[in-house]
Amino acid sequence: MALQLTSSRQDYGMLSDRTRMRMIDRLRQAGIRDERVLAAMYEVQRHLFVDQALATRAYDDVALPIGMGQTISQPLTVARMTELLFADRPIGKVLEIGTGCGYQTAVLLKMGATVYSIERIGTLLDKARKHLRTAKLVHARLVHGDGHFGLPEAAPFDGIIMAAAAKAVPEALLGQLAEGGRLIMPMGDTEQYLWHIEKTRQGLQRTKLDAVKFVPLLPGRD
Ligand code: SAH
Repeated sequence: MALQLTSSRQDYGMLSDRTRMRMIDRLRQAGIRDERVLAAMYEVQRHLFVDQALATRAYDDVALPIGMGQTISQPLTVARMTELLFADRPIGKVLEIGTGCGYQTAVLLKMGATVYSIERIGTLLDKARKHLRTAKLVHARLVHGDGHFGLPEAAPFDGIIMAAAAKAVPEALLGQLAEGGRLIMPMGDTEQYLWHIEKTRQGLQRTKLDAVKFVPLLPGRD
């Protein structure tokens, strides 16, 4: 790739169309089928959400540092979780826990979701706000707080997606799911798994999925 020729993140945008298309091809090969997810991930310029020094790696299938000891999830993880959230469903109202750099927020917005997102680290939330503005995606409601408690004033949610691993399911979140709503979250300590928890008329249906590696869900805010 002729990336040495580029001098700024904006210049990289021109080259990134092709690179993004290759990322989408890889996601398809890895089994992502939902065209709504693939279209949104093609449209969101992922390099706008990482530091300039990392822009050339933004489309590799790796987790990248975003500051404050946190990481942006790899594209396949974002795709998989987003696909699970909306599988066989129309796009609805979503609560995201762990805004981080704002990339997952951007993908959800591009898909047409109504997005509420909570981040416990103020500096990261400011960065996310900047990134989303650069990407011209400004209609998410970003909240500085502890995601353990969800956002009761905006509940119920059709979907809740968590970007940090909890040791147990935060009870408050279950109460904020709409009937038919889903919570997609990593859970565990040294061994973590993705969980799909759906609120049905008969109660909660919990399904354990892939082994994953996420930063921990921490209490309080910084
Ligand atoms: N989706 C993000 C991933 C960020 S990593 C992205 O695309 O960049 C996970 C994020 O969860 C971190 O920013 C971390 O600060 C945040 N986090 C951890 N515990 C939290 C909590 N209790 N409430 C809100 N955010 C939390």
